[in-house]
Amino acid sequence: MRPLGEHVREIIALEGPITVERYMSLCLRHYYATRDPLGADGDFTTAPEISQMFGELIGLWMLEVWNGMGRPHPIHLVELGPGRGTLMADLLRASKLLPDFRAAVRVHLVETSPVLQQRQQATLASSGFPVQWHARLEDVPEGPLLLVANEFFDALPVRQFIATERGWCERLVGLEGDRLIFGLRAEAEEPLGMPLRIGDVLEWPSLSIDIMRELSRRLARGTGAALVIDYGYWGPAFGDTLQALRKHARVDPLAEPGEADVTVHVDFHRLAQVASAQGLQPHGLGTQRDFLLALGIEARASSLKKRATPAQSVAIDTALARLTERGDTGMGDLFKVLAVTHKGLEAVPGLPPHS
Ligand code: SAH
Repeated sequence: MRPLGEHVREIIALEGPITVERYMSLCLRHYYATRDPLGADGDFTTAPEISQMFGELIGLWMLEVWNGMGRPHPIHLVELGPGRGTLMADLLRASKLLPDFRAAVRVHLVETSPVLQQRQQATLASSGFPVQWHARLEDVPEGPLLLVANEFFDALPVRQFIATERGWCERLVGLEGDRLIFGLRAEAEEPLGMPLRIGDVLEWPSLSIDIMRELSRRLARGTGAALVIDYGYWGPAFGDTLQALRKHARVDPLAEPGEADVTVHVDFHRLAQVASAQGLQPHGLGTQRDFLLALGIEARASSLKKRATPAQSVAIDTALARLTERGDTGMGDLFKVLAVTHKGLEAVPGLPPHS
């Protein structure tokens, strides 16, 4: 296949510099459509790939919330960007505890990558559940909804604006000779309603907002909850969070278009605002650490260790530490958890009330 870099250069040569959003979008589509990027041999690892405990605890969370919703039947269980399908497989296994839930569940996976869709099919073949795939959330049938999105929103493109003496100018990707470079649109945007300090970078996640709005509309019309877990912060904040990972190491996002995983940090405040505007109740923000501890990850690790070999016990402890440790060594406080529910669901497990 022709390298995406050639295609991107051609577009810029013909049409002029493109927005960061369009660049990210071209890169991400190519990247996910052409490989399974997860795991030790890939470019990055996610929580469900680190340990089965992650998906199992999310399964328990779903059971409790479903109880709190009055046990609707059927219930649409939706995952956005399911990767290898590991989280969903672990979640469904944990749902054995509640046969009524299993009878009510309709599984829907929203996935654009044909490669990962195949992978999900293989992972879930033995789950005992029929699975429906959709390219967009809009295609999932309406009705009571439980949704999970882990490391999904960070994989969606954003526009970037930089504060200059002229005002907010959109950041672009252009060409210098044969090399891709960042630049700025000459004309300033309409004021973005934000204070302006020269050099500040504002990220605008249009697609995340659209998806969150669609999700919120569905929850507001019906009942249910969505759980969003990602590398992110409670905004507003200003900074360039665009980064690219290849083989677990940071690389220049412009160096090999479509060959590295490009991500941004998620602004949870913006997602919560979209949900509140549709009349939903946000819960959290919490850290992944507090969330998993509250759901009982330590007890789950102990019970797994009872049936484990010494080597497996070490692996369980290592996974527990990676998922919950604070600071740069773990995912414990870098990753955050936000839930949004229909009004009336006053509390959800593992998350503080929204303040
Ligand atoms: N949730 C998984 C995988 C995270 S990687 C895990 O935790 O392991 C991001 C996932 O989102 C991949 O499955 C990717 O193919 C999918 N994806 C990226 N952009 C998408 C889009 N616009 N719509 C649907 N899925 C998308």
